[in-house]
Amino acid sequence: MKKIIAVDGPAGAGKSTVCKLVAKKLNYTYIDTGAMYRAVGLKVFESGKPADEENINAAVEEIEIRLDESARVFMGDREVTKEIRMPEIGNMASTVGKFGAVRKKLTELQRNMAKSGSVIMDGRDIGTAVLPDADLKIFLTASVEERARRRFEELKAKNIPANFDKVKNEIILRDKQDSEREIAPLKKADDAILLDTTNLSIDEVVEKIVELAED
Ligand code: C5P
Repeated sequence: MKKIIAVDGPAGAGKSTVCKLVAKKLNYTYIDTGAMYRAVGLKVFESGKPADEENINAAVEEIEIRLDESARVFMGDREVTKEIRMPEIGNMASTVGKFGAVRKKLTELQRNMAKSGSVIMDGRDIGTAVLPDADLKIFLTASVEERARRRFEELKAKNIPANFDKVKNEIILRDKQDSEREIAPLKKADDAILLDTTNLSIDEVVEKIVELAED
């Protein structure tokens, strides 16, 4: 039977790492909605135009985003999986995500993607706005220090130049922006299960979610 798991939480909580592993174990499709906001952010960034409502609306109207089975991200025919991981694109994703036209288009796309079969989808507003009827909702979090450490290690592993304090400040700013925006802010759904992963290993978090899904 088709099942849906929604995973939300702040930047660097480990959502994508955990969701990929849960998807593999349960044979679900993993959908990374942050990648879609990042793709719109990349388009605006590369246009060289100011990130104002007019330019953001034009970019989102034009953009064609596709995620493949291996979670690679495409903008039209161009693969942008690596480019969207740059820290400045994370901030740009948070800026574009404030606008209604962006949220509307990406939410529709995400709902369509969730129709295909069992999915685990991660983001900021999946349990509250995109898929409020999900079978299982998880709110994944960790201390700011720990989240910054994980993001920093992740960037280093990908050979993307990074500075720890800068990464931490960007996370703080992004959380603030994501939680305070008017449309679909980052928020735990009332019926979501809170998982604080500060002192848990990746495997422990994966096990916990698999257990909850199988219950
Ligand atoms: O998850 P990730 O860090 O890749 O997301 C980048 C940004 O995209 C977030 O900081 C947030 O502003 C935005 N986003 C969103 N809603 C989602 C997923 C991501 O607003 N469902």
